[in-house]
Amino acid sequence: MDKDLLGEFEDMRTNSVSSLSKAKENGKKVAGMYCLYSPTEIVLAAGAIPIPLCGTSQVPISVAEKVLPRNLCPLIKSSYGFAASGTCPYFNLSDILIAETTCDGKKKMYELLSRFKPLHLLQLPQKQEGEEALRYWYGEVNEMKERLEIEFGVTITDQALRDAIQLTNEEKRSLKALQDVSKLKPSPISGMGLLMVLYNRGFCTDKKEVVQIVDRLTSELIEMHKQGVTPFNQKTPRILLTGVPVGVGSHKVVQIIEECGGNVVCFESCGGYKAVYDQVDEHKEPLLAIAEKYLRTPCSCMSPNSSRFELVEELVDEFKVDGIVDLTWQGCHTYNIESYSLKQYLQEKKRRPFLQIETDYSESDVEQLKVRIEAFLEMIS
Ligand code: SF4
Ligand code: SF4
Repeated sequence: MDKDLLGEFEDMRTNSVSSLSKAKENGKKVAGMYCLYSPTEIVLAAGAIPIPLCGTSQVPISVAEKVLPRNLCPLIKSSYGFAASGTCPYFNLSDILIAETTCDGKKKMYELLSRFKPLHLLQLPQKQEGEEALRYWYGEVNEMKERLEIEFGVTITDQALRDAIQLTNEEKRSLKALQDVSKLKPSPISGMGLLMVLYNRGFCTDKKEVVQIVDRLTSELIEMHKQGVTPFNQKTPRILLTGVPVGVGSHKVVQIIEECGGNVVCFESCGGYKAVYDQVDEHKEPLLAIAEKYLRTPCSCMSPNSSRFELVEELVDEFKVDGIVDLTWQGCHTYNIESYSLKQYLQEKKRRPFLQIETDYSESDVEQLKVRIEAFLEMIS
């Protein structure tokens, strides 16, 4: 593979700090975001830059634990720790935080986070079906629009929303095509490589640039497949990773799966397929289309969350998956409990081996995880 092309993705996160600073010097505003339920289109339509702030590193967790309970989800502690320690340049450059009432831990953490920066809280309904839920959520999405108009001193027009929808749909198309490359057997890209690309591109301040470089990478990977270039073979166990969000820094389980001889071919999680499989309808009233799309996000904080089950079921076939690993961060009750029903559902529908892993961001259980994952991959083989 073109090392320069992958290198561009590796550098993307670091380089974006200076491009974000420059954009701010030129009067651009920045909105820090934590969740797939937060509509980036509205931020873009306000002329601002959306930037992901979800913590994926163990490093700031000790700072967070001075305030937050130790047995809380590491993603929440990491996100808070970055803010409290002042060590995240993206947090520091954010003018406003867009938060959401998903799980209990996150929504209470946001109350503390609002002491550092202006914060807009989207109040989510707890169900996805029905006119009532959509009407309520539409009101929330509209409130976010009005808040950004006030904070940034702009008017968000329907045309600006339409342009933003087109741009993010194009980005989704491009990122989906990239992930679809792993449907090829054997895949020309490792799960670790794919994760790095998907994670780092989120920090690029120019979405058009993201689309161009991702499309280039996709073409190159397809060419590699044609030429038989791959780190894997026909017998490599193909794993679908579902569950909590993962990123660079919280990649422990992905790395172990691949070091033990598997290939993570699909990430059914928030940085992966979940973010791209569904687009905003370009033919409807834009704010309503945004509300509809974001409400459909299949997350365990919804009850019921049947669309996640259906999505995983489809992906098992599409990616020719041999086994499913359901990742749960310690302290994440919603994904932890949902794992039981997901396992039952998939065993009935697909009869594929299923492994639930509950862990955190630390290295303390690496050896134990290796033993479990090795045994799982051996069983699949
Ligand atoms: S898993 Fe749920 S709460 Fe977490 S980022 Fe994704 S949509 Fe948001
Ligand atoms: S992984 Fe679970 S507990 Fe952690 S932030 Fe996401 S939904 Fe909340």
